[in-house]
Amino acid sequence: MVSVRWTGAAGLEFTHEGKTWLIDPYLSRIGKMTLFFGHPQPDREKISRYLDTLPGKLQAVVVGHTHLDHVLDVPEIVGRVPVPLVGSGSLETLMAAHGMPGRVTVCKERTRIDLPGGAAVTMIPSLHGLVLFGRAPYAGEIEPGQQPPLKASAYRHGPVFNIRLEIGGTSFLHVGSANLIDDGLEGQTCDVLFMCMPGWKAIENYHGRLLSRTRPKIVVPFHFDDFSAPLSRDFTAPPVPWLSKNRFLKRIAEEAPDARIVHPALFEPMVF
Ligand SMILES: [Zn+2]
Repeated sequence: MVSVRWTGAAGLEFTHEGKTWLIDPYLSRIGKMTLFFGHPQPDREKISRYLDTLPGKLQAVVVGHTHLDHVLDVPEIVGRVPVPLVGSGSLETLMAAHGMPGRVTVCKERTRIDLPGGAAVTMIPSLHGLVLFGRAPYAGEIEPGQQPPLKASAYRHGPVFNIRLEIGGTSFLHVGSANLIDDGLEGQTCDVLFMCMPGWKAIENYHGRLLSRTRPKIVVPFHFDDFSAPLSRDFTAPPVPWLSKNRFLKRIAEEAPDARIVHPALFEPMVF
């Protein structure tokens, strides 16, 4: 059994037999003013609180792309807990800017990488969702030679991956931005699909193309929180507007009628 918690934005935490792996951890939840006009910095207190209460011993961190809501906290986390870090060359540039060159296992597309603790990850080439007036925001790679803290706009998305993680005989697919490359996903079935919601309507037949190739038993819609809003005491956050949630769920039922839909609550364990 694997216990999974959604930690906000595209963040997922997987725990199995006292070991924990993270995808896209983002605890800082920078507010809109700093996001648009400032130089966001990780919230060290929030990160400490989170790491102190991790359900298992941290084994590795995996990053799907290098937008701020996926990587702002990553240098801080792996700077404190020196675990393997898997991602793109754009992530390596970011880590080098933070004085930690050579820390990233720069992934090859569709190549299985063994992680500590018995998990394995395969990075599947994808595209960014068209979430900003039909376009992907902040395209390109993070530019080398910049001095942190960077502006949000400097966090270019770099290569975008969907992440297939295998733990304890269960396979998970993390689609952290609502888009895909059909050929990339060929043969990449999974037990549990985490399916990004924002921007889904801009991608032609997102549901049909994704679900017919991945054939999940369980679908978990996620990344629908407004990640510039703080969490309230009960770990809720407002959803982003214009998601058309009912239509999104109806499309899952149409394209994958046998799949069970699990609605995640932030920081609430889901056991698979
Ligand atoms: Zn993004």
